Amino acid sequence: MTDFQETLYDGYGQRFRIDRVLHEVRTEHQHLIIFENARMGRVMALDGVVQTTEADEFIYHEMLTHVPILAHGLARRVLIVGGGDGGILREVCKHRSVEQITMVEIDETVVQLCKALLPNHSSGAFEDPRLSLVIEDGMRFVADCEEKFDVIISDSTDPVGPGEVLFSENFYQACRRCLNEGGILVAQNGTPFLQLGEVQTTASRMHGLFADWHFYQAAVPTYIGGAMTFAWGACDPASRKVPLDTLTQRLAGSGIVTRYYNAHVHCGAFGLPQYVLQAIGKPSND
Ligand code: SAM
Repeated sequence: MTDFQETLYDGYGQRFRIDRVLHEVRTEHQHLIIFENARMGRVMALDGVVQTTEADEFIYHEMLTHVPILAHGLARRVLIVGGGDGGILREVCKHRSVEQITMVEIDETVVQLCKALLPNHSSGAFEDPRLSLVIEDGMRFVADCEEKFDVIISDSTDPVGPGEVLFSENFYQACRRCLNEGGILVAQNGTPFLQLGEVQTTASRMHGLFADWHFYQAAVPTYIGGAMTFAWGACDPASRKVPLDTLTQRLAGSGIVTRYYNAHVHCGAFGLPQYVLQAIGKPSND
């Protein structure tokens, strides 16, 4: 039996026993492996970094999807950047109010292999008639995009390799340009205990671009280092202050049954630890 040793951090990382390799390939953009682990189910890693596991993907995909869409309240057009495993797409498709979904993924091999080997992630969402799947670099797409969206979800790899450009000022500026009035951008932004610099960099790039920028958190076990932050950029500051009762009603009205997300978790997720607030130069009552 061999092990998968994550290589994201020098001298520190998580190890999975590989019970069975389902597929391993160097795609046009990155190294990909999908393997089985008795405890975490099927696991996909890209360039040595765990992207998603069957066991805990629901936490990440529910929080990166339902927080912006339910905060917005009237999202009709959604853009997903990255997200090749289909987990975000699955959650977005659960919102009947969403009329059009564009997904821009750089690596078609990720989509094909995840459809085949991680079918529970997309659960048929790639067949949703609302979907327009674009195989392209997300940076190039938003730079040239003439369309506008109500919610943009950046579900990228870490800011190394093909994902690096999705953490650039150009990317955030282009996303801001592609948002309708009242629009919201959210983006996976790493675990601040180990990647505080990533959070600080994003904060400095979003500051001045959005009427309201902040972060929210959720602890996803296989994104090691404690809670993961999600970057939040909103055209309307009220989007981050939607009352608990309103969020409760919106979730109930959506008919979506969740395993992690609820209105209390939504509101609490925006409460950040002091060391993160200090790193991004925000007061504790922001
Ligand atoms: N949930 C994971 C995380 O938080 O690390 C991310 C999962 S998803 C598999 C990440 C996706 O981003 C991959 O499918 C990768 O191919 C895609 N990606 C990386 N760089 C990209 C780019 N520049 N444009 C579009 N997609 C990109």
